[in-house]
Amino acid sequence: MTDPSFTPQHPGWTDWSEQMRQRIRSAEDLARFVEPCEDERLAVKALADRFRFVITPYYASLMDPEDPGCPIRKQVVPRMAELDDPAGLADPLDEVAHSPVKNVVRVYRDRIAFCVNNECALYCRYCLRKRMVGDDDWTMKKRELQQGVDWIRRTPEIRDVLLTGGDPLVFSDDRLEWLIGEIRSVPHVEIIRLGTRLPVTLPFRVTDDLCKMLEQFHPIWLNTHFNHPKELTPEAAEACDRLTRAGIPVGNQTVLLAGINDDAETMKRLCEGLVRMRVRPYYVYQAQLLEGTGHFRVPIERGIEIFRALRGRTSGYAIPQYVLDTPYGKVPLDYPYLRGREGDQIVVESFDGRIWREKNPL
Ligand code: SF4
Repeated sequence: MTDPSFTPQHPGWTDWSEQMRQRIRSAEDLARFVEPCEDERLAVKALADRFRFVITPYYASLMDPEDPGCPIRKQVVPRMAELDDPAGLADPLDEVAHSPVKNVVRVYRDRIAFCVNNECALYCRYCLRKRMVGDDDWTMKKRELQQGVDWIRRTPEIRDVLLTGGDPLVFSDDRLEWLIGEIRSVPHVEIIRLGTRLPVTLPFRVTDDLCKMLEQFHPIWLNTHFNHPKELTPEAAEACDRLTRAGIPVGNQTVLLAGINDDAETMKRLCEGLVRMRVRPYYVYQAQLLEGTGHFRVPIERGIEIFRALRGRTSGYAIPQYVLDTPYGKVPLDYPYLRGREGDQIVVESFDGRIWREKNPL
């Protein structure tokens, strides 16, 4: 049981290690923040052995205590629908088959995703890497991290390394400094990217010391993962600001989730809010055919209409690329604005449906 006095008024609230220690892991802990509905209560028990339920007190404090439909709550509190998804797969992108060494995922010739940590601050119910996050079999020992670095060192085509997980920022500064230092010492690695949800779920992790440490290894890029405007808190904005001030470009990737962000108005508020925080909305992912996540999936046609509704109605900077990830790489999902060729002209459709013809060399 967590300490009941651990609330935003507690002196340790902004200490990220203390937030990690006080994480919510039981129905009793959850009841301190929300009134669980019957479905949530049953699901917490039924899914205990299937996919871990862990939430930071900070993120829990964003939940609506009375509304089980709250978009924050739906992302992290188990629901019985997770047990009813016959189409779902454990590894829909076939990442294991794309791994030359443990937790190095290579789909493209010049870049890899290196899943350096199986831990996260909390567990998102729709997580693509459900098969590994929180599972001890996927823990990376220092020796295994070194094996990944050695593979990068002897693979000269790799110019871009994404450190992901789980979440690499759950590592201590020292461990992260060692790992990034090792990768930076490989001459053919041009950029190092961090994929982390901590600016959203535990923004206090982005300390000045962390930013100072990362600054040594530029060019470092970072992608985080906001899904809903409720997550754009002053704490999250300050974390992103610390990163950008350290010279780290911050992008965002969102997952399109039914009942959370699958309408144009919510997506517009999210993306415009991100741009105000100097965070570039980069990708929106179609939710994968992943086990236990059928209730989150949105038809792709609907996703395309959401981004079509944004085009021409907000800055281009606030419009991310909607993609379907596949075992063969990411596929952009765009409305077909390009209507084809008529003789020496190209025919296009504007954002508001008007047709334009323009001379186009043969
Ligand atoms: S933070 Fe990312 S890796 Fe961790 S559970 Fe959520 S989606 Fe999965």
